[in-house]
Amino acid sequence: MSLQFAEILRDRNLKATPMRIEVLQIIGGAGHAVSLTEIQNNLQNFDRVTLYRTLQSLTEKGIIHKALDDETGSYFALCKDECSSKNHHHHHIHFRCKKCEEVYCLSPKKELDIQIPGFKLEGFEVEATGVCESCLS
Ligand SMILES: [Zn+2]
Ligand SMILES: [Zn+2]
Ligand SMILES: [Zn+2]
Repeated sequence: MSLQFAEILRDRNLKATPMRIEVLQIIGGAGHAVSLTEIQNNLQNFDRVTLYRTLQSLTEKGIIHKALDDETGSYFALCKDECSSKNHHHHHIHFRCKKCEEVYCLSPKKELDIQIPGFKLEGFEVEATGVCESCLS
C-alpha cells in the first residue's frame, strides 16, 4: 500500500515524504471521504502547517480532492488516475448519509452527462444526501 502511494507521488513529481504517505494511507484506507478531523486523529504527530501544505500539494497534483466542504468540515478522497495537476475530472456524486454522517464518493448507475447550451463545461459537482448502504441494512 505505502509502496503504491510512493509511486503515485513520484509519478506526480512529489517527494514521497512520510507525511504524504501517511495522509494518503489514511484517506485511501477509509472507504469513504475522510474529514480533516479524522486525518488529524489518525496522525501520530503533525503540525498544522505541514498537514495543510500536504493536503494542498496532494490536491494540486490531482492525487486527492475535496469531496465536501461545509460547516462540519472538509472531507478528502482519493482521485482516480485521470485526474492531473491541471484538471480534476470527477463524474461522481458526493453523498452524505443523514444517519452516520459519512461522506462518500459514489458513481451513479448512469454516467452523469450535463450540458449547458452555449457554455463550455469543464466540470461540475453534485452533492446528494440520503441514507447509505450500511445504515439501510
Ligand atoms: Zn481529482
Ligand atoms: Zn450511513
Ligand atoms: Zn469524490
